[in-house]
Amino acid sequence: YPNILRHPGPTPIPKKVELAMAQDMISHRSAEFVKLYRETTERVKPVFGTKQDILLLPSGGTAAMEAAVANITSPGDEVVVVTVGAFGDYFVSICEKYGLNVHKLQKKWGEACTKEELADFLKPLSNIKAVFATYNETSTGVLNPVEQLGEAVREHSDALFIVDGVSAIGGAPAEMDKWGIDILVTGSQKAMMLPPGLALLAVSDKAWKVIESNDSSAYYLSLLSYREWNEKGMTPNTPAVSLIMGLSAVCDLIDEEGGFSKTVERHEVMKNMVRKSMNALSIDLLTADEYASPTITAIRTPEGLDLGSYISHLKKKYHLDFAGGLGPLQGKIFRFGHMGYCFPSDILEAVSLMEAGLQDFSYPFEPGAGVKAAQEVYLSSL
Ligand code: PMP
Repeated sequence: YPNILRHPGPTPIPKKVELAMAQDMISHRSAEFVKLYRETTERVKPVFGTKQDILLLPSGGTAAMEAAVANITSPGDEVVVVTVGAFGDYFVSICEKYGLNVHKLQKKWGEACTKEELADFLKPLSNIKAVFATYNETSTGVLNPVEQLGEAVREHSDALFIVDGVSAIGGAPAEMDKWGIDILVTGSQKAMMLPPGLALLAVSDKAWKVIESNDSSAYYLSLLSYREWNEKGMTPNTPAVSLIMGLSAVCDLIDEEGGFSKTVERHEVMKNMVRKSMNALSIDLLTADEYASPTITAIRTPEGLDLGSYISHLKKKYHLDFAGGLGPLQGKIFRFGHMGYCFPSDILEAVSLMEAGLQDFSYPFEPGAGVKAAQEVYLSSL
């Protein structure tokens, strides 16, 4: 049986992408590579909503987050980090490690940060070098309103606005240029339909000016060095060549779907299918509809159910693999991933197997109610 991986990442890989990655290796200094790199980085721009160059690092998303911090700041700089969960806290840790003076805007896990909250937080502060925020908080399934957060940053400071898009980009709408995001980063293994190992990053003109005048000691993660090599259609050191071949196939798949706006629509439908099915089963969701993530849904432990046993039962008997909760939400929620290579039919399958598991645990509910609700959302989207 195949593993039904409904996780926040890594996520399933399309066959077309696997085959693209199985091509013969090529030199990263060859004309063939330059063509692949130039074409692919151009084609992926709509996924970021930017005209800026997309830089490709042979790394996880963390390295791209660290590159942003390392290249724009110096020890002692004042920064603001908006944190609504585990990955906001992660940005705090990176900033603290780099000796920055971190002003932390902490929200309760499960909530989003609003424009007004960020504006009020910024008003009494001065000399803020950068504001960091998570677009999609993977630990809670909250999609922060980054467009509005960007407005607050511009209205109340001269700071750069740096966004971790790791579990959003490829599934959620992104308009980096219009929304005034100065650095947007993501990783390959979430909504981008690729295995782990490639980080994607784009930098605004405003951020490049800061980077140019910053005395950064980054070497492997030097963005100036990435920019210099990017002009030649290459990267400073050996890139993840096979993953870039895979990324080219991902761009084909997005085109085949009808363009990135269609991919975004599919994620929206899947989000609604999952949420409506849980409503129909009277199982609570962690987040409000307004800030619900299109890529991952945090579901509260159904009342009276031992979550650990339920999740491992689903895996063992039905090969359905959900992720548990992190930190304070451990045992309180589980996370249903619906990003990347995932379709409404996959949601129908997972909800149906979830219901089978609930029946095995003699959980009181109306069998079929969740599937029916998910089906209704799907059919009305066609
Ligand atoms: N940010 C977010 C929002 C994430 O979900 C993750 C991975 N779960 C990361 C950062 C870290 O990315 P990576 O594990 O690829 O380094």
